[in-house]
Amino acid sequence: MPAYLDHAATTPLRPEAREAMLPWLGERFGNPSGSHSLARRARQAVDEARQQMAQALGADPGDIVFTAGGTEADNLALLGAAAGGTMVCSTIEHDAVLECCRSTGGRLVDVDAGGLVDLDRLDGTLDSTVAVVSVMLANNEVGVIQPLDQVVEVVRRRAPGALVHTDAVQAFPWLDVAALAAGADLVTVSAHKFGGPQGVGALVVRGGARLAPVIHGGGQERGRRSGTHNVAGIVGMAAAATATVAQRSDTVARVGRLRDRLADGLVAGVPGAVETGARADKVAGSCHLRIPGVESEALLFLLDEAGVAASAGSACASGALEPSHVLLAMGIPPEEARSALRLSLGWCSTGAEVDLALAEVPKVVARLRQTATVAP
Ligand code: PLP
Repeated sequence: MPAYLDHAATTPLRPEAREAMLPWLGERFGNPSGSHSLARRARQAVDEARQQMAQALGADPGDIVFTAGGTEADNLALLGAAAGGTMVCSTIEHDAVLECCRSTGGRLVDVDAGGLVDLDRLDGTLDSTVAVVSVMLANNEVGVIQPLDQVVEVVRRRAPGALVHTDAVQAFPWLDVAALAAGADLVTVSAHKFGGPQGVGALVVRGGARLAPVIHGGGQERGRRSGTHNVAGIVGMAAAATATVAQRSDTVARVGRLRDRLADGLVAGVPGAVETGARADKVAGSCHLRIPGVESEALLFLLDEAGVAASAGSACASGALEPSHVLLAMGIPPEEARSALRLSLGWCSTGAEVDLALAEVPKVVARLRQTATVAP
């Protein structure tokens, strides 16, 4: 059995999501914006999903905006909230946030060596021109959890007119986002990171926060996101979210133990391997290592051959592997950042998968190091 250790890139569909979706991929259909009975049934399914998402995210149903994934929800949050004002975000955000900020001349806030946003620098960056501040709840590469409450406190004090956005895409499988993001005005989630289908997400827009649409058209989602609803996807996302919340504490305990065994075993079994970020600050499924003397690209190739699916960091950056902007922002030198290995566990990870990784990673690293020594 191969080991799938890339759940932060995407995690398998949960059975609850598949079951909820199947009727909407077959005998049930209808455009929820229509008026006949088939359309009304589709509308009812979307409304029920909205209730479920609101419950899972600690929001009002009217605050949920369905989107075509996390990237779109992040874009809607930043571009929609900016309204000509300045965007501010941390240097370790996902590109979906970072590129919105960079492309509009926004400001970036550094993180410390542990990957935590520097609150003093945030304080110094804010002024009355700032319209939106985005700090992710948990990072997609190293898994570090940000002190969002403190971020909100600084923003309310220094830039009271600004909205706070948090990208909770990687947090939702592991953390009580309803509680931890309660102070944020805008919250992004993406279904395929918690057992829903790919290409569906949601943005919480709390309490009627002002937001200009980014996608224009038929005025669905109360004018905030036009386009015909992806009924099957939305229904699947809601079922996955409900299952995630119901099982979260058990999953965190079980998978956290697996992750600890994996990380401890690799640090002990691979000479020179260093864990990135303090484990106490990270989500339960995240194991990130730097392995000196080994290039991520070669490591991932040989691990794949050995039946271990892993990653170097963000899936969006695959191709020629540039050193990760997250690791560089944490002050890790580029040559060390090129030796990154991200093993991310998920809701269905097993002990057998961890055993395989513990057996194969040291072997593959030793092989690569040996090749490097004999090369001319
Ligand atoms: N934000 C974070 C933190 C992510 O990890 C991802 C996906 O990797 C996204 C946003 C983008 O989400 P999606 O793949 O649904 O567009």
